[in-house]
Amino acid sequence: MKKAVFFLSILLSIVINAQKQEKDPEIAGYVKNVSKDSLKANIEKLVSLGTRHTMSSTTDKEKGIGAARNWVLSKFRNFAKNSEGRMEVYLQNEDLQPDGKRINKVTNLGNAIALLKGTDPTDQRIIIVSGHLDSRVSDILNSTDDAPGANDDGSGVAAVIESARVLSRSKFPMNILFVAVSGEEQGLFGAKMLSDKAKAENWQVEAVLNNDMIGNNSFDTPKNDGTPN
Ligand SMILES: [Zn+2]
Repeated sequence: MKKAVFFLSILLSIVINAQKQEKDPEIAGYVKNVSKDSLKANIEKLVSLGTRHTMSSTTDKEKGIGAARNWVLSKFRNFAKNSEGRMEVYLQNEDLQPDGKRINKVTNLGNAIALLKGTDPTDQRIIIVSGHLDSRVSDILNSTDDAPGANDDGSGVAAVIESARVLSRSKFPMNILFVAVSGEEQGLFGAKMLSDKAKAENWQVEAVLNNDMIGNNSFDTPKNDGTPN
């Protein structure tokens, strides 16, 4: 969790002004607003949904990828209320056909998206902050057994949500797009669906800050010889 907060401080520094880093008081203010409790609650909620396998139920209200993406969208919609109309929230989705590999039935793939529009209409840049919502057990086609995925990638999605919460209250000249993609474990399908849209709409993507397994503790665990990993 410490690592997640640390990462967010880096992320916010990049988003606001790569030149000023953590000494900028404005950035320090954003970092101060990052809540350890929010990050923890977000991860716990994602874990409580049983599995978030891409081919799990999209209609069950309690369990599965549908419940997960609807919950992320509901969080984004709450943040949008404080954004003075600048945050647009939507589900990007499409049906995937079986591919004989990691998709064995028609599957509705969905990316939960919040776009925080910039205040400068001439500034078309988009910074993408992403994590993957889906999880899985060892058997890639098992879409029913519990797959909590607290770290992979509940941690990354929690960071995306917390970034959206903190940054939605402020104004930036460029656009920031927060997204929890699906289909990562099955073959990066959600990221591809988003990149196809970006290409078709000629987005000016300035940076993609992807967060996958940012809660692991390898940094904190010394090697046998005492040096950090
Ligand atoms: Zn992952």
